[in-house]
Amino acid sequence: MKETLAHLLELQEVDTSLDELRRAREVYPKRIQELRKELEEERTSLEEMKGRLQDLEKQKRHYERELRRAQDELEKHKARLYEVKTNREYDAVQQEIEAWENSLGQNEELLLETMAAIEELAPQVADKEQAYAKSQEEKQEEIGRLLNRLENLDEEIEGQIRRREEITSRMDRRVLATYERVRKGRGGVAVVPVTRGACGGCFSQLPPQVVVEVKKGDHLIKCEYCGRILVWNEEKA
Ligand SMILES: [Zn+2]
Repeated sequence: MKETLAHLLELQEVDTSLDELRRAREVYPKRIQELRKELEEERTSLEEMKGRLQDLEKQKRHYERELRRAQDELEKHKARLYEVKTNREYDAVQQEIEAWENSLGQNEELLLETMAAIEELAPQVADKEQAYAKSQEEKQEEIGRLLNRLENLDEEIEGQIRRREEITSRMDRRVLATYERVRKGRGGVAVVPVTRGACGGCFSQLPPQVVVEVKKGDHLIKCEYCGRILVWNEEKA
């Protein structure tokens, strides 16, 4: 019976490890996908911001061009004032000068507004760029780590399955069936050590006689509260 209990404990260890490995095989690809999506969103948001800055810079160049044009036109028209022969002509040129002065003022104002907007946005873009670079480095590293783990997972699972077959081949069918049944009903944990006089699964305090029996290891003893198979482990006890 002692051997059976040792096999049960070993089997539980293998199954717990298998459960973890299989969970990891499901969770890791999802996590990788999540990280890639986050990175993509961060990149898109950065690109949008950079696009806004580029638009502003384009606007700035446009207003600068318009401003220069207004200045040129003003100079030309002012020079023309000296060449006009009639009052009518004079008035007409004067009107055009006023129009160009308006244009100059408007473009000056727009240029200043645009420059202020650039001054506000440019450092934000720089900050975001830096944050993205850092996030990218961290996330790529985690993705790499997960991919690495994933690569080895199948092999580890195969190894544990072989170990499991080896253990179960040496076990009594009925004991194995009991184990499987309890494991199924108890969230994967069928074999637990007695822990400070209590069941290591449901933590109910066990009667002293039961503890003595488990320590002896002559029979298969189950926790009367949760039904898990109790084994003796000197360290936990
Ligand atoms: Zn219990």
